[in-house]
Amino acid sequence: MSVIMVVIDGALSSDYNVCENIKKIKLSGSINNTPQGMEVNSLTCIMNMLGIPYKKIPKGRAYLEAIALGESIKDNDLILRCNDIKIKNGRLASSNEVSSKDISKISNFKLIDMGSYKNLLIVRDGRKFYKSLKTFEPHQNIGELITEILPSCENLEFTNFLMKLIYKYNLYPWGQSVKEEFPSFYSLHNINGAVVCKTEIVKGIGRTIKMFTPDLPGTTADVDTDLNIKAKTALELSFKYDFVLLHINGGDESAHRRNIDEKLNFMKKIDCEVIGYLIRNLKKDTSLIVTSDHGTSSENGEHINDCVKYYIYNNNVETQKWINRNCSFQGS
Ligand SMILES: [Zn+2]
Repeated sequence: MSVIMVVIDGALSSDYNVCENIKKIKLSGSINNTPQGMEVNSLTCIMNMLGIPYKKIPKGRAYLEAIALGESIKDNDLILRCNDIKIKNGRLASSNEVSSKDISKISNFKLIDMGSYKNLLIVRDGRKFYKSLKTFEPHQNIGELITEILPSCENLEFTNFLMKLIYKYNLYPWGQSVKEEFPSFYSLHNINGAVVCKTEIVKGIGRTIKMFTPDLPGTTADVDTDLNIKAKTALELSFKYDFVLLHINGGDESAHRRNIDEKLNFMKKIDCEVIGYLIRNLKKDTSLIVTSDHGTSSENGEHINDCVKYYIYNNNVETQKWINRNCSFQGS
């Protein structure tokens, strides 16, 4: 008996209207995955969905992403996300520019190109700046005056270095974090888990809580990803593992780009290539949960702190446990 939980990142309840297979699933309800007082993002929501205690959920994502990339992180390191940005008329015009950057001059720090607009900055021995460091999520601050969303820190030299990244290299640092310990998925639930994903934050979560998290060819964490290989891998892993998290990120990226058509087309593709495929091929005792971590508005490009839909096909004991733990059940 096992469970495959498909998490469609950023899907709003209304986005499921274009999904013929998902709409046919009778058992459904809604859930808010954002613990009170915490920021709405995939890190918080997915850790919460996996049953990590609230107090253990970190605010910054960069450490987990560094783990996803196989970096070795020391206790005293500070890790930040750095987005390639565009500043226009003194305002943050874009937080996801794909640019060829000249980063060779930043020598005392390790900057890792994660592809697209994403980079990681590893500051060796930088943990001492962590407590007083304040940063902003760039994708939540599009259109803001850049002077209003500058990072700040007690250490002036380090603050100046971050300013230089922004003004000289158009690299916007945020999401600071340090090395942390997490309970394993097995110790939390007494079952074995696997994660199928491309997005580094989800991969990092999977690996730090010791779920089997393979690297898959052809996956991009955007709408051009290979959904077939993800669906097939999740199915195969469900024969071996009690719980498989299949995370699909592209729709969230579309919504951040404020491209509703792209998002809905991708939802249709997921419905057909992932959900349709899984329903046809699941073992009889395997349960399928289709849900989202949080909604993302295609109108303003922001994450929404509200309930998301979940659908359950082939309800079984493990799914029921998940519902009891996580959901206010409103199923039909
Ligand atoms: Zn997002």
